[in-house]
Amino acid sequence: MKFITIDKNNWTKGIDKSRETYQLFGPVKDENGCLIKKLDSDVQPDMGYYESVMSAKSVLFPQTEKILSASLDESLEDHHIMKRAENDYSPRAVLGIRPYDAKAIALVKLNFDTKEFQDPYWCDAYDVTVFVGLGITRPGPFDFSTSVGTGPFCEDDLDILLADLDDHYLAKILTPKGDAFAITCGFDTMADEKESQVLFDILRKEAEKNITSRVEINKLKDKTILDLHEADFWDDLAFSCINCGTCTYVCPTCWCFDIQDEARQKQAFRFRNWDTCMSPLFTRHATGHNPRGTKVQRVRQRFMHKLKYFLDKYDQGIMCVGCGRCVKSCPVNIDIREVCNMMNAYEKQN
Ligand code: SF4
Ligand code: SF4
Repeated sequence: MKFITIDKNNWTKGIDKSRETYQLFGPVKDENGCLIKKLDSDVQPDMGYYESVMSAKSVLFPQTEKILSASLDESLEDHHIMKRAENDYSPRAVLGIRPYDAKAIALVKLNFDTKEFQDPYWCDAYDVTVFVGLGITRPGPFDFSTSVGTGPFCEDDLDILLADLDDHYLAKILTPKGDAFAITCGFDTMADEKESQVLFDILRKEAEKNITSRVEINKLKDKTILDLHEADFWDDLAFSCINCGTCTYVCPTCWCFDIQDEARQKQAFRFRNWDTCMSPLFTRHATGHNPRGTKVQRVRQRFMHKLKYFLDKYDQGIMCVGCGRCVKSCPVNIDIREVCNMMNAYEKQN
């Protein structure tokens, strides 16, 4: 681990230099707010952004991704044989990712990269990606990251963590991948390790003090799934919810997807697309039977998966990094913080 300082003029030059080796992704503002997008060759990341509407999850798990293809041309020997689509897995770097969004990638990894199974598309993208984090000095009002195992200067799953110090960045290089990116950019002005760490600690404590929103999760592990299933608050939540799915699309830890096949002239393709457990179609079987056919079942599934099933299965905390996007975006003001606290406090009535 080492620290370097990067003058902001050199930052721009270094980032431009890195484009020869890396595809760059970063915050870009448009009329819909700030998104983490692939940067065109003449676009610099907007490192002064406050919050992003969407996280960086699409860098590894695109909203639509071609995964298989086949030729339908019967004159070819291998016609109708599905093969892995040729996607681009050249090195990429995500600039300015928020620490809680990097932590979300670590949680999602538990699903896509297990001991038994590896999702080749997600894993290949993950292997070539460098995560350059940007510490949060002005946490938003919906941020409750400190109560769910992350925070404004959390280093989990980052390769570099930057602190914005007005005219320059102080960068903490956390992994060899991060080091290789810094070398490619030509960032090599070493900073004193001890002093830099003290500064990072001060910034982290200051930012953490400004996060006043929190959830209680200490009793979730002790609850039984069956007891929680029977809680009466699910009906009230389902009554309000319109099943729009917004909360799942903006969430950095949601990974539901659907598979679609398409044929165009003499080519067939298989795509995977983001989907949502809030949609009745998501679980409808070909027979017409739907194991989660009612709204209350779907609403309960979303919160139980995030706050109970995931916790029990992996013992790595809840499947939520406290970014607050779903709270901010829900059109009917359903608030995962309230649901979490209700689940945590729930006692079955005998
Ligand atoms: S954003 Fe709100 S209304 Fe829409 S599915 Fe999620 S909880 Fe329901
Ligand atoms: S559940 Fe909501 S607060 Fe938690 S990570 Fe997802 S969007 Fe963020």
